[in-house]
Amino acid sequence: MSTTEKHTFQAEIAQLLDIVIHSLYTDKEIFIRELISNAADATEKLRFLQSSGTEVYQSDRPLKISVNTDDTAHTISFTDSGLGMTRDELIENLGTIAHSGSKAFLQQIKENAGNPGIIGQFGVGFYSAFMVATKVTVYTRSYQPDDTGWIWSSDGVSSYEIEPGQDLDRGTKIVINLKESDREFARAHRVESIIQKYSNFVGFPIELNGTAVNTISAIWTRSKSDLTDTDYDEFYKFIGHDIDAPLYRFHFTADAPLAINALLFVPKNSLEKLGMPKTESEVHLYCRRILIQSKSKGLLPEWLRFLKGIVDSEDLPLNISRETMQDSALMQKLNKVLSGRFLKFLEDEAKSDADKYAGFFKEFGHFLKEGVVSDFTHREALAKLLRYETSVSESPAGFADYVSRMPEEQKDIYFISGPNREACLASPYYEGLKAKGYEVVFQYDPWDEFVMDHLREFDGKKLVPAEKAEITLDAAEQKLDETAARLLCNFIKESLGDKIGDVRVSARLVDSPAVVVESDKNMTSSMRRILKNLNRGSENPFKHDLEINPNHPMMVGLESARKDRPEVSKQIAEQVYDNALISAGLFEDPQAMLKRINSLLEQLVTKAN
Ligand code: ADP
Ligand code: MG
Repeated sequence: MSTTEKHTFQAEIAQLLDIVIHSLYTDKEIFIRELISNAADATEKLRFLQSSGTEVYQSDRPLKISVNTDDTAHTISFTDSGLGMTRDELIENLGTIAHSGSKAFLQQIKENAGNPGIIGQFGVGFYSAFMVATKVTVYTRSYQPDDTGWIWSSDGVSSYEIEPGQDLDRGTKIVINLKESDREFARAHRVESIIQKYSNFVGFPIELNGTAVNTISAIWTRSKSDLTDTDYDEFYKFIGHDIDAPLYRFHFTADAPLAINALLFVPKNSLEKLGMPKTESEVHLYCRRILIQSKSKGLLPEWLRFLKGIVDSEDLPLNISRETMQDSALMQKLNKVLSGRFLKFLEDEAKSDADKYAGFFKEFGHFLKEGVVSDFTHREALAKLLRYETSVSESPAGFADYVSRMPEEQKDIYFISGPNREACLASPYYEGLKAKGYEVVFQYDPWDEFVMDHLREFDGKKLVPAEKAEITLDAAEQKLDETAARLLCNFIKESLGDKIGDVRVSARLVDSPAVVVESDKNMTSSMRRILKNLNRGSENPFKHDLEINPNHPMMVGLESARKDRPEVSKQIAEQVYDNALISAGLFEDPQAMLKRINSLLEQLVTKAN
């Protein structure tokens, strides 16, 4: 007597199966993730039933998931000790595509206590097995004490069969006979790495051919107060492939507007800073402890690519494929919440331990600067996190510190770019601000010019390059009177001819004889340097203005010398201009200058003799 019943799949199933098998998932290996997720769901459901006092068949069976491979028979099987299925449930859950038993289960317990943390919601994961199977056989025995076991099997084309099973243990065993092209999934090594990749953090032990595979637990699901530094550090070393403990860790949990559980780490060092290729984000996206996407793109802004860790959101659909993931609105929401909270975290860290933060900024500051330049939405928050030396502080200070020290009459924030502290202190653009008693931000990284250019202001105060500072020093007694100074300016202009723009008297020089200033108001000297590099080889199309210091002995001397010794005075005027270019970092033609200096020296010795 045969008790086997043959059922044809629902009418639209053949078509749907085709979609699931051929286009829903990008990687075939995903079926392992899906079947383990189902096993974990079934086990979780059983645990939930048990904990709520329901009587279950074989109540002592340990809760675990076993995967077994047979490379000779070309099979892979998944066994769980979960809640199993009755005959009706088999028909309903596996015979009807897009009918999710998990969803029905959740609906059922909605009014009762708690959400048992179930992964499935979409009712198609099971069918991913048919991507690799010629035949799938499901042996299952429900937890309900008066039920018996059942065997369901199908080739995934048009029909499935159900027959009673004998002596089955509680739970479900799914055996997959692999297609010839997919026999790799019967190889233990291959399967082990797939389990580790996707299912390493499943909340039940997973054994592969009898050996435990998932060894590290999903600590992000535990509460912060239960976790020690060592727990976090060990987890980081595992997931971040690092031998050192992390510099910072950020454990963040939220329920609204999105259910998020994130554990993010800042490593001790930036490999990119050491000259390694562009860092690839190592933040992985999970849904209820199951990997959805490793090195998830779009989950965090590009400039946060130095972070390592995991983001787990229950709101994510598990069976989504990589391609559809990238532009989903959900990802954008996650991105927004996470990056905002992480910046807030950094701000708090900077407040509570400034030295540690300074170390972080030294290592990862250029990522934040990249953010200022490229990411308008976070610009303001990022500006608070920038740190620079200033004329009064050798330890890095933020703009907020600077602003808090500004004298009342100072309106703008001033900065100078130079190769190092000494160069900035010696800059002719600094001397006037110094005389005024204004603090100046010193920037040694050529990038900073762009950063300031994008930032433009902080806390309502303009960021102004020192060379553009509109300040007037209190007029001391001027050594060259107005007429003499104007005549000297004319002389210099005539001496240099087309090479120079305007020449005028400066109100902001103290120790330097002269400075060059941009004739173009929107240009700064470092932008000019960069443009010049781009234009290398061709004639420099830009002219500078020159501002002279009417109190400097050299200027006073030049004004009287120009009448008697016009030849050498012209050379000196040229040299004054070149010197000003040198101190602005804009000088180009050392050969021509060398000739002139030699000639000047020659005249000096000849005269001395
Ligand atoms: P989902 O997991 O999104 O609900 P699946 O296609 O993966 O969809 O599974 C369909 C349904 O089959 C599940 O909701 C569940 O009710 C049932 N099921 C699948 N695998 C198992 C299992 N190992 N034990 C018990 N029930 C299972
Ligand atoms: Mg599923």
